[in-house]
Amino acid sequence: MSVLVFAEISDGKFKKAAYEAVSYGRQVADLIGSKVVALAIGQGADPGELGNYGAHTVKSISVGEAFTADAYAAAVNAIANEVSATIVIISNTYTGKSLAPRVAQLMGASLATNVVSLPDTNNGFTVKRGVFSGKAFAYVNLSRNSKVLAITPNSFETKAFGETATIESSSISIGSSSIHIHAVNKVTGKIPLTEAEVVISGGRGLKGPENWHLIEDLATALGAATACSKPVSDMDWRPHSEHVGQTGITIKPNLYIAVGISGAIQHLAGVSSSKVIVAINKDPEAPFFKAADYGIVGDAFEIMPQLIAAAKN
Ligand SMILES: Cc1cc2nc3c(=O)[nH]c(=O)nc-3n(C[C@H](O)[C@H](O)[C@H](O)COP(=O)(O)OP(=O)(O)OC[C@H]3O[C@@H](n4cnc5c(N)ncnc54)[C@H](O)[C@@H]3O)c2cc1C
Repeated sequence: MSVLVFAEISDGKFKKAAYEAVSYGRQVADLIGSKVVALAIGQGADPGELGNYGAHTVKSISVGEAFTADAYAAAVNAIANEVSATIVIISNTYTGKSLAPRVAQLMGASLATNVVSLPDTNNGFTVKRGVFSGKAFAYVNLSRNSKVLAITPNSFETKAFGETATIESSSISIGSSSIHIHAVNKVTGKIPLTEAEVVISGGRGLKGPENWHLIEDLATALGAATACSKPVSDMDWRPHSEHVGQTGITIKPNLYIAVGISGAIQHLAGVSSSKVIVAINKDPEAPFFKAADYGIVGDAFEIMPQLIAAAKN
């Protein structure tokens, strides 16, 4: 019996979420007296790196093709069978969101997504998961023998175990015949919003898309992703993929900076799990200040250039 962790590769490198997932997998394995097998599908990344984060063994599958959920899920299921894994851990990234349910279905496993805790194995196998856009938590008991856990990015620290993993190439192949969809128009050079540690977000207070350089410049200086409120994407100032909130994406960065956003309950639903929230608003009564850890009352057009200059320094 082992714990299998899908270690996601993007642009020839392991994602930070992959290290988090492997560290988490190692802690689960230690809890149940098992070993961790990490699965790396793709090219470029050094599988040996995963030993430091707790993997005992790394199975490596080299594919030139782009990710497709069906093909990757079949590979994860095949490796899970090969290594007798009863627990599979996947990070709840865009890729993981499409992979985890498929893997669970193939394995006949219980599935928990948005997992934010280590399992409690005292009475069954219970995990804590975020629900209702992070406004509440549910404790879910996974009753099937096989279990798939999709863990929320930025919820677990990466741990350095300083160990060396055994690297094995897998005989399982992901052939082009199993790839039915090819990725098109991939956005490169952008930090995925759900995985970003820092997010700079703009609202209607920025007046128009021509002022978004203020958001982008601060994001570039801080290595952050950009987001926006719903009206901003509804008015096509920004793409819908940046809209956070109840009807948009839920995020959990370490730092969320909201610029010219009122802080309506529907917006907060998607960002209130951020570790530190900074609100910049000219209205001292703006609701965001009640949810924020730090507030700057003032005109964004005066404050942002100063923040950008400070961040660049
Ligand atoms: C069913 C439903 C679902 C919804 N889902 C979402 C959702 O997922 N996400 C979401 O964001 N919204 C959502 N909304 C909309 C939400 O209720 C708010 O209307 C929206 O979040 C407001 O966006 P905003 O803060 O950008 O704009 P506004 O409410 O117009 O606020 C602009 C803010 O900018 C400030 N400001 C103005 N000028 C400046 C300046 N120069 N410098 C600094 N500050 C300035 C103002 O004081 C104000 O607080 C939803 C609404 C409904 C009914």
